[in-house]
Order: sequence, then C-alpha cells, then structure tokens
Amino acid sequence: MARFTDKVFAVTGGGSGIGEAIVKRLSAEGAKVAVLDIDLAAGERVAAEAGSATAYRADVTDPAAMMAVIDQVVADHGKLDGAVNNAGIGGPFIPTADYPLDWWDRTLAINLSGVFHSLRAELPHMVRQGGGAIVNMSSICGMIGQAGTAAYVATKHAVIGLTKTVALEYGAQGVRCNAVCPTYVRTPLTLAELTDPAIWTDLDARHATGHCATPEDVAAMAAFLLSDDAKSVTGSAHLVDGGITSA
Ligand code: NAD
Repeated sequence: MARFTDKVFAVTGGGSGIGEAIVKRLSAEGAKVAVLDIDLAAGERVAAEAGSATAYRADVTDPAAMMAVIDQVVADHGKLDGAVNNAGIGGPFIPTADYPLDWWDRTLAINLSGVFHSLRAELPHMVRQGGGAIVNMSSICGMIGQAGTAAYVATKHAVIGLTKTVALEYGAQGVRCNAVCPTYVRTPLTLAELTDPAIWTDLDARHATGHCATPEDVAAMAAFLLSDDAKSVTGSAHLVDGGITSA
C-alpha cells in the first residue's frame, strides 16, 4: 500500500547517505520528493535514481535562499505536505579546549541554524495548507555526549529542543514535528572521519543488535513519522540506535 500517493515532501541533504535513503523510501511509497542539497549534481543523481523526485540546489545556511527554494518547490508541486531537515556535517574529533573555532561556527551554521532556516521556510506553507509533518535529523549525540565532538553534540541536542518547541507552537494548526536520532551509520559523513575498518567492527559490537544502523533503517523511521500512522506522535525524539544508548 502506498502511504504517500499525491504527497509532496522536501528532504534537505537528500543527495547522499541518510537523506538519499529517505528520498528513495518516500518516492517508493508514492510521494513526489524535492531533493534539496548544496551539491546539485548529487541531488540530481538521487532524484534520477528515485524516479518521482526533483533536485534543487539549496544551502541551508542561507535563510533567503531557503525561503526561495521552498517557495519554488511549492510553486512547482502545488503544496508541501512534509519535510525532512536532514542536511548536516560531522567534523573532526578534538577535545573542547582545542576545538577549532571555524569548525564550531560551521557546524552550528549547518546543523542548527540550517534546521531553523528550513523550518522558517516550510512552516508558513504547512500552516496555510492546514497541516503537515516535519522530521528533524538529530542523532544519538542529541541524547548523550561524545568525547571530541562538542559542536556536533551541542547542535544535535539543540535540534531536539527546537523540535519540541515547534511541535508546541504549531500542533493546533495541524503541523507535527519530530526528531530522529540515529546511531552510527556508514555514510560519506562518518566514513570520512572513521577511516579504520577496525573502528567499525568495534562500533558494530557495541550495539545490542550487533550492528550499526543502515541509511534504510533511518529512512523507515522518517517515513513512519511523516505518515498518518504517526498522527498522534509529535514533539518527540526517536532513537534508531540498535540499543547502543541503553547500556
Ligand atoms: P552525508 O555527508 O552522507 O550527507 C549529507 C548531505 O548534506 C550531503 O549530500 C551534503 O552535500 C549535504 N549538505 C551539507 N551541507 C549542506 C548545506 N549547507 N546545505 C544543503 N545541503 C548540505 O551525511 P549523512 O551521514 O547522511 O548525514 C545526514 C544527517 O544524519 C546529518 O544531519 C547527520 O548529522 C545525521 N546523522 C548521521 C549519522 C551517521 O552515522 N551517518 C548518525 C546520526 C545522525
């Protein structure tokens, strides 16, 4: 059964990794998907592979550009039923006292302000339409600390607070807003920093399931939260963590 026939969704950072899997899952379930990515070629590849999708160049750090691109998505498709604010970066593992200021600023600009700018662009359309569903990409690092990644952990905790606030503000207007908190997933983001295969073997073993999550595992949670199956779910953060934070 196609849950998303006639639905229109936007996915930021849809050109790679978790975002790519989300685009493909939503498209496979019948949605028209706008693939928003700073890397237009990557977005175009994913859109072509997904089938029912269109790529747009979008930089989540630019508030005016985000307004313009979401307006363009609505102009092209007639509406916006849901959005996944997924674009994000990782960064180096360096203790806080030595954490580079430029990485701090860049991480906040993309991982936190990027979600804020995306929400400001998306919410007015959903309110005007009488409802919508939003998923913000947090992380297990939105629930727990991780040595060496002060900026990443701070932004992912903040995304959960932002998510709860939006849920309270817009619930009466029919908009739901939730966060997803994945464990380690093998994507270009993590593979760039965790280059030793032995690290991944250790990480797999730390999960109750015996393995890290896949992009498709995270996409399944995002799709649930966007669907009417989740009509009573808002303002909460949903782990896809293989039990790693249960210890
Ligand atoms: P990825 O690097 O594979 O994909 C990120 C995408 O975001 C890329 O296509 C990139 O071009 C795009 N992007 C980067 N900056 C952008 C900007 N300014 N504007 C628009 N697009 C931009 O990363 P991923 O692992 O798929 O991560 C996706 C999200 O999932 C991130 O928010 C990340 O923090 C989160 N996450 C990842 C993991 C993991 O282990 N991979 C775990 C938990 C949470």
